[in-house]
Amino acid sequence: MHQSCRAISLSILALALLISAPLAFRAAYFPDDSTTLILNAQLADGTGIPFREAALRIRGNRIAGIGKLSPAHGERVIDAHGLVLAPGFIDIHNHSIDGLDSDPFGETQIAQGITTAVQAPDGDSPWPIKDWIEHRGKNPAAFNVAVFAGHATIREQVMGKDFKRISTPQEIEKMAQLAWQAMNEGAIGLSSGLEYEVGSYSNTAELIAMARSAAEHGGFYSTHIRDEADKAFDALLEEIEIAERAHIPVDHSHIKLGTVSVWGRASEYIRVIEEARSRGVDFLADCYPYEAWHSNLKVIVPDKQYENPKSVAKAIGDLGGPEHLTITEFKPNASYAGHSLAEIASTNKLSPVEMYIRIIREGDAANTEAQVIGHSMIESDVKAFYQQPWVMVASDGGIGSAHPRGAGTFPRVLGRFVREKHWLSLTEAIRKMTSLPAQRLGWKDRGILQEGAYADLVLFNPATVIDRSTFAKPQDLPVGVEKVLVNGQLVWDSGKATGARPGVVIIR
Ligand SMILES: [Zn+2]
Repeated sequence: MHQSCRAISLSILALALLISAPLAFRAAYFPDDSTTLILNAQLADGTGIPFREAALRIRGNRIAGIGKLSPAHGERVIDAHGLVLAPGFIDIHNHSIDGLDSDPFGETQIAQGITTAVQAPDGDSPWPIKDWIEHRGKNPAAFNVAVFAGHATIREQVMGKDFKRISTPQEIEKMAQLAWQAMNEGAIGLSSGLEYEVGSYSNTAELIAMARSAAEHGGFYSTHIRDEADKAFDALLEEIEIAERAHIPVDHSHIKLGTVSVWGRASEYIRVIEEARSRGVDFLADCYPYEAWHSNLKVIVPDKQYENPKSVAKAIGDLGGPEHLTITEFKPNASYAGHSLAEIASTNKLSPVEMYIRIIREGDAANTEAQVIGHSMIESDVKAFYQQPWVMVASDGGIGSAHPRGAGTFPRVLGRFVREKHWLSLTEAIRKMTSLPAQRLGWKDRGILQEGAYADLVLFNPATVIDRSTFAKPQDLPVGVEKVLVNGQLVWDSGKATGARPGVVIIR
């Protein structure tokens, strides 16, 4: 069985390599061996070491040299005086599966300096993985992509509509096999979203079995844990248990403490993680730079008693009150969008609890859910997480995001957390956006400025870079990111997309 699996895996690998760099595509984007020289920039190589002034030469899709270089005859030169040159930013938690088809230029992504965006976190993924990889290979975007195998997606493949229960040992075995298959097809790891409907019914054993499949392929486990609120500590312990028993590196998705009872407890949370790390657990986390999350209306009620006034009242109280919850989208009643639960309740002359239950019922009747933004984190916790060396920057946004993080994450960290608040140094922030996610992904030739690495590059102005997207205008583009190159091709230049789509699918 192992033999045949390996044969299949090799042929799929060969296929995927062809897809990620077909000859026709190479001819179109790298017509010759011409070079570009970037002069006078401050280089941050991605590892966190201090800036150095050096020139960088690009040949084709790679970095050809770094140092004291002068222009060759006829060579294209970019004068980057006053700018920082860094590896392109790697967003390890990005939701652009739909957006890649509707908007492959992804202005909101490349304008931030994102050159690679990892898709299908939180447990939902395309299926089968190989079809998606093939489709994306034929329809390149401006930036590179990679994809997780989704735990909930695989669970549904095996359990169908009968998922509201713990799986049997036979079902677990089937899920582990499918995770194995997805990894063979090119997934870079397993993602889970244990606060969401399908994933929430799984038990720890199921997750360990699937994580083992991913680990056997050198993948990692990206997890939106079971609870980011009152039971955030229990959920963290389950995650650590999965990491230890499956021997798998983890990326704790969008680390946060999201209810009143756990506010201010970041240092305790960090201590639990530090203990696990000191035992050898390979634990990294990512964190988006906002005090508000974006999800669906049901996630706030952990016991799933969505129509039980007591459960709902507790849930709303835990978030800090009904004014902390804003509806961003609701198909059955578009007039709710843009308003807080407190406002909608008072308009309808109902209590916030009654209003919540009404929205749930309206959603269930239309087989949909309200999308909400919850303002329920506090700055001191976000700051404490950002200051940990094992915390990466990631957006949890993507093309068309209703949350400002979709267009603002990376410039926001550079402009607000580094320049204005001095929470961390600029080179450390860049490390969190480049070599640290590359390390989690197992990539040695991206996320770093070194000879031979892919020329995924960003040039930004450290004095002006900042986000402009807001909850009212989530698509507004940031400023200060001057040029972005993906695989040696300019995709973003002086406030505009160039129209080039040199992104590839990066497979495990
Ligand atoms: Zn999530």
